[in-house]
Amino acid sequence: MASKQKRHFVVGVTGGIGSGKTAVTNYLASLGVTIVDADIAARAIVEPGQPALDNIASHYGAGILLENGNLNRRKLREIIFDNPAEKQWLEQLLHPEINALLRQQLADATSPYVVLVSPLLTETGQHTLCDHILVIDTPEHVQVDRTVARDSTTEEQALKIINSQIQREKRLSFADTIVDNSGSLSELHDTLEQFHNDMITALFNKGSDH
Ligand code: ATP
Repeated sequence: MASKQKRHFVVGVTGGIGSGKTAVTNYLASLGVTIVDADIAARAIVEPGQPALDNIASHYGAGILLENGNLNRRKLREIIFDNPAEKQWLEQLLHPEINALLRQQLADATSPYVVLVSPLLTETGQHTLCDHILVIDTPEHVQVDRTVARDSTTEEQALKIINSQIQREKRLSFADTIVDNSGSLSELHDTLEQFHNDMITALFNKGSDH
């Protein structure tokens, strides 16, 4: 009898700046869901000793590294800002490596379903690693207020970031589930508890189909 390799059901979580991705994943983690974070993977693949960092240093010269050998992210951001060819070169190098690491981390998950959280889920093709996409939808003025309250940033800077991100309608067009995070944290938790229970029930029913 052919044995199927067990593959986890992957729920992608995305949303704009200050929309509540961390609030959502912290709560789902408290329910025992394994969380795989694309931001963490993106940092891990450019740590000293990683091939991607060597590639970046060969391309831009050793000046792209800090004295301690770490990537000078600010300098790299400045180089690719307004330089589509360099941005593309970097993305072609990093995205496949990030996705390979994410695939491995998703496969190592220990919960009935696993969450992949990424601010760039749809822009990087990471949505193709997912079976279900949850988009956190938060009104723009709430995103701005929460971001300003959290970071030492201005309303203007927060708006600039929102405007550089994928448009709300486009992001929502990828959603299987939309979570409205305009209310309180306890309302968000209630919504997520319901989502989690529905997910577990659906996966259980799917598993007992055979
Ligand atoms: P980023 O993309 O900038 O990392 P994020 O999407 O992870 O942001 P969070 O950090 O989860 O967003 O939320 C932004 C801020 O708003 C945090 O300080 C968080 O505690 C707060 N917050 C999130 N949801 C709510 C809510 N429903 N009520 C009140 N505060 C909230």
